[in-house]
Amino acid sequence: MSSLRIDNELCTGCGLCVDSCPVSAISIDDCLAVISDACNDCGACISVCPVEALSFPREGALQEMPIEKYSDVWIFCEEEHHKIAHVTFELLGKGRELADRLGCRLCAVLFGHEVSDLVSPLYRFGAERVYMVDDERLHSYTTAPFARAFTSLVRTHKPEIVLIGATTRGRDLAGAVATILETGLTADCTGLDIAEDGKNLVQTRPAFGGNIMARIMCMKRRPQMSTVRPKVMIMSQPDESRQGELVQEKLVIKESEILTKVVEYIKDDKGSVNLADADIIVSGGRGLGKPENFSLIRELADALGGVVGASRAAVDAGWIPYQHQVGQTGRTVRPKLYIACGISGAIQHLAGMRTSDVIVAVNRDPEAPILKIATYGIVGDLLKVVPELTRKLKERH
Ligand SMILES: Cc1cc2nc3c(=O)[nH]c(=O)nc-3n(C[C@H](O)[C@H](O)[C@H](O)COP(=O)(O)OP(=O)(O)OC[C@H]3O[C@@H](n4cnc5c(N)ncnc54)[C@H](O)[C@@H]3O)c2cc1C
Repeated sequence: MSSLRIDNELCTGCGLCVDSCPVSAISIDDCLAVISDACNDCGACISVCPVEALSFPREGALQEMPIEKYSDVWIFCEEEHHKIAHVTFELLGKGRELADRLGCRLCAVLFGHEVSDLVSPLYRFGAERVYMVDDERLHSYTTAPFARAFTSLVRTHKPEIVLIGATTRGRDLAGAVATILETGLTADCTGLDIAEDGKNLVQTRPAFGGNIMARIMCMKRRPQMSTVRPKVMIMSQPDESRQGELVQEKLVIKESEILTKVVEYIKDDKGSVNLADADIIVSGGRGLGKPENFSLIRELADALGGVVGASRAAVDAGWIPYQHQVGQTGRTVRPKLYIACGISGAIQHLAGMRTSDVIVAVNRDPEAPILKIATYGIVGDLLKVVPELTRKLKERH
């Protein structure tokens, strides 16, 4: 049964809602809108009603949800300047695994303008179906149209799991969508699994400053929503032969509901560093002693063709901009080589780099925790060790 409400005092029987309904569930009877059982609560009619006579009930206790009607795993495809973000492919890898465990479809959700050529890569990385909303108003990311497009799709097609990258826009979108749909959202998950009951999603994330790993489940609401940081999940291999099914939907939103517009796009090059995609990262911490000593880290990074990272202590001291911070409240990285210089190895730092392929730690304290997880440890004064490493590397070139 539909949960949509009609305020008969406001309804003028204009019929705009009848035209907007994708499942022909609305008719006009005696100058008033009437909803039939075919209504799937997609909400498309709400935004077209000029007198705001249609709504979902918002007060009081949440209505019980028929969670058995929800199936499929959805991945939000993050696209910018016609390029799919790497995290999308990482989530498709994890999503494929979850969908196989649940015996359901893996679907991708693609929003943008003139983005149909981005559909094929989503099939190649595991999506069986792609829901696409192609609309000029989705050219640049703003919250209202993206959230409307997403919530309408969810209400119509009812996915049981939605995974979104924990990027700047992903965090914004996930929060808005979960709030509108009145469902649970677990941010910054580091692990996703299916519970022993074979139905519910177990979402693992660090809590209480990283001291415990919380396992969170959303048992009574759907979809179960998670955000996952880039580089946490492993990207699967593409299969060039894979094809899928494309489902195109329309964006139904009034112009007055779009409160922000992107006027211009200016790239911020100042202090920018691409830690997430770097193969080699050389990081400095409080052990550097003073900001000037970051030049030693930069020289080693340059000699290796890598980029500079930092601990939060170094960032908080104002020695280097936040964009360089690695860890729980900074970037999660997974480079081939991570060199930690003068970094103790606090749990919050390790949370962002411990899955690096090879970890080298330079520390004068043989008991420093970082040495316990390092592949190679150098116990010594970084002010001597780091320039020596740089010199040796330059000699080899
Ligand atoms: C909620 C929360 C979130 C956090 N998020 C992050 C995060 O995202 N990233 C992060 O890094 N931290 C984070 N922290 C902070 C974290 O707990 C640590 O305080 C921080 O990582 C310490 O930085 P450090 O290792 O550079 O400094 P320290 O812990 O002070 O370690 C300095 C190290 O340098 C060594 N050293 C000193 N001099 C030399 C020398 N001359 N040669 C060689 N070694 C030397 C010392 O032996 C020591 O091991 C967070 C904390 C909280 C509570």
